[in-house]
Amino acid sequence: TKVLLTGGSGFIAAHILEQLLKKGHDVVTTVRSEDKASKIRENYPEYKDKLNVQIVPDIAKLDAFDEVVKIPGIEVVLHTASPFHFNFKDPKELLEPAVNGTTGILKAIARSAPSVRRVVITSSFAAILTEEKLTDPNTVFSEKSWNPVTAADAHKNQATAYRASKKLAEKAAGDFVKDPANNAKFDVVTVNPPMVFGPLQHYLASLDAINTSNERIVACVQGKWKDGVAPTGAAFNWVDVRDVATAHVKAGLEIPEAGGHRLFTTAGRFSNREILDIIKKNFPEYADRLPGDDVKGGEYPPKDKLYGFDNSETTKLLGIDWISLETSIVDTVKSIQSFGA
Ligand code: NDP
Repeated sequence: TKVLLTGGSGFIAAHILEQLLKKGHDVVTTVRSEDKASKIRENYPEYKDKLNVQIVPDIAKLDAFDEVVKIPGIEVVLHTASPFHFNFKDPKELLEPAVNGTTGILKAIARSAPSVRRVVITSSFAAILTEEKLTDPNTVFSEKSWNPVTAADAHKNQATAYRASKKLAEKAAGDFVKDPANNAKFDVVTVNPPMVFGPLQHYLASLDAINTSNERIVACVQGKWKDGVAPTGAAFNWVDVRDVATAHVKAGLEIPEAGGHRLFTTAGRFSNREILDIIKKNFPEYADRLPGDDVKGGEYPPKDKLYGFDNSETTKLLGIDWISLETSIVDTVKSIQSFGA
């Protein structure tokens, strides 16, 4: 099958690319620069006939994907490219690439890529959760839950801006396929992961430009939690990157009945305290950088201040036996060790 994978240089996309090539698929992938394109090509000399790397410099432009979708024979599109970082001044820097990127690629496909039958969009748990309910034990977030944020809320703070970017992009996709005027001949699946941990594809990554969701693991092994473990954050769900990649591949190519679904891909809960305990247990060589047992922080909130979740529909549909937190953290640390951590 010929697959278009956007944002092929990303943390998650690099694992998707690897799985697709190993399964024998033809892949067209987009990146922002020639530098990243050549790194990808150089990493896969044995797949040179199966891999086509294209440059799409800015997905905020509505016509960004107009040419690339015309490559003949694409059947499945996996749209992962979207900013996930908090170094921005104006929320527009997130909203425009997220929303225009999604709308733009769907329009381009509907207009010029009649062979496409399915589009998988990387959304997020950020599009599922309601910020105010994260401390409500009576709330159960599932595939049916929607973040109520609006574009106007994006100015509140950086986390809200990111959550708005993911929610609005996902809504835009849903609205696009529902409107008969758009003449979409494909269906859409979204993959909604919470915090993603896991090893990096080494040919693309570096320790000082670590992807956002692995930052806390790097901080821990670099000794930044020695005097106080960082708070976990507002949400406590996680998933391994290899499972997220598998979910994209299965949803895009292997499970026809996934059409129209939102997939809440999560292995369960985590806390920074649990990450620390796993690192302590498995990497005695870091003992002098890690906090002693008397140092507090990173715990779960009390049970009556923590939301519930239910992703049983997704687990059943995908049939994934989720990678455990211990395996994921151990593999992540081994991966960042090879960068000199
Ligand atoms: P990365 O930052 O590693 O990947 C983001 C990708 O999007 C990169 O390929 C990046 O290109 C590309 N990108 C960002 N902004 C633009 C832009 N303006 N124009 C073109 N390309 C752009 O993060 P992840 O792999 O973690 O994220 C991939 C997807 O997964 C995103 O949609 C993110 O929202 C989603 N996600 C991630 C979670 C996580 O915990 N990691 C959780 C839930 C969802 P470049 O490499 O050039 O920067």
